[in-house]
Amino acid sequence: MKTNDNLTAERPTFVTHLECSMTGERYEADRLHNLSAGGWPLLVRYDLVAAGAALTREALAARPMDLWRWRELLPVRRTENVVSLGETATPIVPLPATGARIGIGDLSVKDEGRLPTGSFKARGLVMALSMAKELGTTKIAMPTNGNAGAALAAYASRAGIETVVLCPADTPEVNVREIAAQGARVYRVNGLIDQCGAIVAEGAKKGEWFDFSTLKEPYRIEGKKTMGLELIEQLGWDVPDVIFYPTGGGTGLIGMWKAFDELEALGFIGTKRPRMVAVQAEGCAPIVRAFEAGEDHAPRWEDAHTIASGIRVPKAIGDFLILRAVRDSGGFAIAVSDAEIAAALDESATADGLLLCPEGAATLAAAKKARAEGRIDANDKVVLFNCATGLKYPLPDLSRTLDRTGPIDHALL
Ligand SMILES: *Cc1c(COP(=O)(O)O)cnc(C)c1O
Repeated sequence: MKTNDNLTAERPTFVTHLECSMTGERYEADRLHNLSAGGWPLLVRYDLVAAGAALTREALAARPMDLWRWRELLPVRRTENVVSLGETATPIVPLPATGARIGIGDLSVKDEGRLPTGSFKARGLVMALSMAKELGTTKIAMPTNGNAGAALAAYASRAGIETVVLCPADTPEVNVREIAAQGARVYRVNGLIDQCGAIVAEGAKKGEWFDFSTLKEPYRIEGKKTMGLELIEQLGWDVPDVIFYPTGGGTGLIGMWKAFDELEALGFIGTKRPRMVAVQAEGCAPIVRAFEAGEDHAPRWEDAHTIASGIRVPKAIGDFLILRAVRDSGGFAIAVSDAEIAAALDESATADGLLLCPEGAATLAAAKKARAEGRIDANDKVVLFNCATGLKYPLPDLSRTLDRTGPIDHALL
């Protein structure tokens, strides 16, 4: 079998430094960091002039279709530190029937459920774990709503790094079990994800482990940004009009926004940007509330609840980065109810045969609502993000029973 050059090639990395996302203050690359001195997320910066000279669209086109094809824009310096489970490029699946019903001519889904561990958390965590290996980390702890913990467990086991994962007690059962099955120690906590995060932060302060919470670790966002790089390349270097993104901690939205700037610096795209729409659930919508109030930060949402557990994040440390990207893009933030999420999940599965996860279904519900309210146009090119396979979530039992020993009227089946 041919080896994957993306995983074996020399890695000319162009990382210059890390930067505080609030103050612009510089931090040295190649050492372990959590937040900046001021308590803000760090962003990885590259020499994009040199990266642009090293990478052409043509060279890229010849590489295998996985996220490691973007190596000039990724932080891992040494090939032997790449920890991979096959992070394939994900398809963009059109939803023609659903689009026709809700009045959007060009509606499609970037289906991230095809990634290892069944969610796009694999993109972020494969990068974070590869960097943890490169920087010599031996023990990691992380709070999770489920999918991130599963990806962490899998890649950490592969990298030989010990992990402790804390999740809310009502995290979907399959998530809790897959985390344990893939080698992490998982604890169900009687609290929400930010309360799990507080326990992780205390342990990190005592020197027990490295804190891998969303955006407190700078490399996850570099993995997540490949969604934006990949999307634009797949669309023939054309930028869609609107992206609907299910927003919890916001890593993916912030990462894609960063990716677009990097693609422009490389000369691969122009100045056009998609309008970024942050989608949340009505039972947990801190970003929507802050967007509508014109605030830069989003205070904690009390009593957070929704069936879309991946976006049940009451307080996001990167709130200002999410809000900034949404506003700079000309987009908006919108909340949908659990009933609307369930209806959208059913609609996509029955009309177009694509089973979404509840968070992905939230983006469809939001697109429907935004279209009905005239916030997007019938001829906009719209991309939704389905961030996990729908198979990870409890599904309603819609089956019937059949007694094979009695008379069967086949016409009635
Ligand atoms: C984590 C998660 C999200 C939210 O992603 P962020 O980039 O952290 O906002 C959305 N959907 C699913 C399925 C997730 O697991």
